[in-house]
Parts: sequence; C-alpha cells; structure tokens
Amino acid sequence: MNVLVLGAGQLARMMALAVKPLNINIRAFDVGSGNVVDPLTTGVIFGNLSQGIEFSDFITAEFEHIDHQTLAVCQASGKLRPNSQAIKVGGDRRLEKDLLIKCKVANAQHEIIETKADFDQALKTLSFPLILKSALAGYDGKGQWRLKNQAQAEATWLDIKAFFDGGEQGVKHAVVAEQMVPFDREVSLVGVRDSKGNTKVYPLTQNHHSNGVLSVSIAHHIDKALQAQAQKVFDSIAQELNYIGVLAIEFFQVGEQLLVNEIAPRVHNSGHWTQQGADTCQFENHLRAVCNLPLGSTELIRPTAMINILGEDNVPNEVLSVASTRLHWYGKSKRAGRKMGHINVSGNSEKQLASRLMDLAEILPEAAFDELKPYITAYQSKLI
Ligand code: ATP
Ligand code: MG
Repeated sequence: MNVLVLGAGQLARMMALAVKPLNINIRAFDVGSGNVVDPLTTGVIFGNLSQGIEFSDFITAEFEHIDHQTLAVCQASGKLRPNSQAIKVGGDRRLEKDLLIKCKVANAQHEIIETKADFDQALKTLSFPLILKSALAGYDGKGQWRLKNQAQAEATWLDIKAFFDGGEQGVKHAVVAEQMVPFDREVSLVGVRDSKGNTKVYPLTQNHHSNGVLSVSIAHHIDKALQAQAQKVFDSIAQELNYIGVLAIEFFQVGEQLLVNEIAPRVHNSGHWTQQGADTCQFENHLRAVCNLPLGSTELIRPTAMINILGEDNVPNEVLSVASTRLHWYGKSKRAGRKMGHINVSGNSEKQLASRLMDLAEILPEAAFDELKPYITAYQSKLI
C-alpha cells in the first residue's frame, strides 16, 4: 500500500517508521519545494504532486495549513482522508469555532475580528485578560497576542494590523479574540475514527506548555467521568466532519468541566507518548484508519510521559540510562524553539514515572528545559 502524506516533517517521518511493518510505504509531499520525497531521507521521489497522487492508494496530511488548491486536487482524486473540509476546519479558527458551536461543544467565549470596529466591539463584549489568535496559519503559539488591559489595546491592534498586511494577499485575515480561561490544567484527547464510523480514543493526556508551545505530556489512568466527557466531544466532532484517521482535541479543564481549546485534524504532539505507552501508537492507528484496516487497541499499557526537545540538537546520551526511556530525533537543523525531537519515558506506576521524569530532569540541560523540574515537582507532589 502506498500513502502520500501532505507535509514532510516529523509527523510524516514517524508515520513512515510506524507502518513499515504493515507494508505501507509513506511518501511525503514537501509543500515548500513541491517535491514528493522519502520522509526519512528527504530524497526526491517525484518532482510534482500529480505523480505523487497517481502512485498512491490514499492521501493524508500531517498539518492543516495546506493551500486550498492542493487540497482540492487531492480531494478530487477520491483518495484524501480525512476529507479536505476537515483539514480546512483545523486550519482556520473561524471555521473551527463554527464547528464547535454546531456540535454544541463548550469552548472559551470569543469574538471574530476582521476590522478595527470589530476589535473595539470585542473589547466591550469580552473582559480582560484576552488572547487573540490569528484565524489562519497559527501554530505553536505563533500569531498570538495577549491583552491584559485597555492600555495595551492600541499597540496590540497596530501589531495585528501589521500582521494582516504582511500575510498572504487576497485572503481575508482575521483574529479570534478569546477570553483567557483560568484553567486548572490542559488536557488533550487523541482518537481515531475509521471509514465505517467506529471510534477509539486514547486516555486523556495532561499537557504542560511553555511560552505557548507544548513541553511535556503525561498519560495515565484518568478520571472516568472526565474521559467520558472528552470522548463525547470527540465522537460528535468526528461524526460531524465525517472524519477518517486520527483527530486530536485540546481542552482546558476548569473544575470538572472541559472546554475545547482547538482541534487538530492529524496525529498530534500530545500523542507521541503512544509510541511506547499504548497498545497501538497514534501513527499506526492513523494509517490503519486511512487504509481501511481494523483499528488497533488504544489502551494504556503503563503510565508514560513525553518531553519535547525544543531548539536543542544535543542532549546527554545518559538520558538513555534512565529505565524505559527512548529518544526520538527528527533529523532537523537547529533553530530557536524548533521541535527537534522528543523523549518518551514510562513507569509501572505513576510514582515510578514521576521519579524517572525527575531523573531525566536532573540530566537534561537546565537552559533548554527550564520548566521541566518545577512542573515535575508539582506533578510529583500531587501523587504523594
Ligand atoms: P499548538 O500548535 O502548540 O497547539 P497553537 O498556536 O495552535 O499552539 P493554542 O493551542 O490555541 O495555539 O494556544 C497555545 C497555548 O496558549 C494553549 O495551549 C494555552 O496554554 C494557551 N492558551 C490559548 N488560548 C487560551 C485561552 N483562551 N485561555 C488560556 N490560555 C490559552
Ligand atoms: Mg494548541
């Protein structure tokens, strides 16, 4: 089976690594160069998209910010899973909010802003502090502004205006202004839906972000009621989108309530722990769904955490001396804040996992992992 992935980053790479044993060959469309490449070696296979489409049984995507022309061509081939509409929804916060409203799913109070008048109006309707997010092309906390009070409003608007002006011409830019949610913690649900409508979800993952970027995810057995609440949201969104493949939903937890932050129509960074903590990893399950194979179990095998390696291309190999630890590099060149790789670690109990995480925090350089120790200390203290 041949599958073309739109996007040639680490997610395509990890899909390729996961599904080789199933005899599924992954080729990746590099949207920057327009070439179809081997996701592991980046060697060019085809010089254009159409050959990539012709020589694949199915097409999927590793990111949602794909131009609509490319999506239309892939959709027309009848091979694209999830469908182009689902991918577009994930890439435009306006469509995403419409979907959440349609599915009657709780989310942060918000307003859509396209003009200065909308901006002024939103500041009257919502209350500070606010977070403003670009409707298009936002990821890893980019294209976001935090607004604490009225005094910052004018400067923030000028910045947003400059962002619109500097963005792609001929498209309608907007920001979504959201009420800051005083969340107790952030969690996400990664799940998978096949072409017959069967769904399976992984246990909710607890996530910690530094500067708007995911830094640590922890998966363990979680409160049943909360898991059921999240699964209900997953089922309604996946069904509404007629979704095929892995879909991730990020939530804010406030007390016992989950508010959806955003959805990602793809395998997700907060699901990387499934590579060793779940019966079937998210990458394999995504391709199983795409290729009409039976879905694999999403059960947690043992408590597992993932630590992102951001902007660093070298960590002490000593991390591998911590039991049940695996290192995953993406083969990318170093750039500040860039996702370069991740570390997965498991324990037979949550306590053992926390202690191994602490061992890793002792080894990892403080400068690149400055929030790790305080976060793990806080996590550990809840377990005692
Ligand atoms: P990523 O690609 O890493 O998921 P993103 O650029 O898509 O990031 P969001 O997930 O919307 O952006 O926001 C990044 C982080 O900023 C969130 O995980 C959360 O920590 C914080 N954040 C976003 N929106 C809110 C909100 N309404 N209230 C409180 N915190 C928020
Ligand atoms: Mg996010």
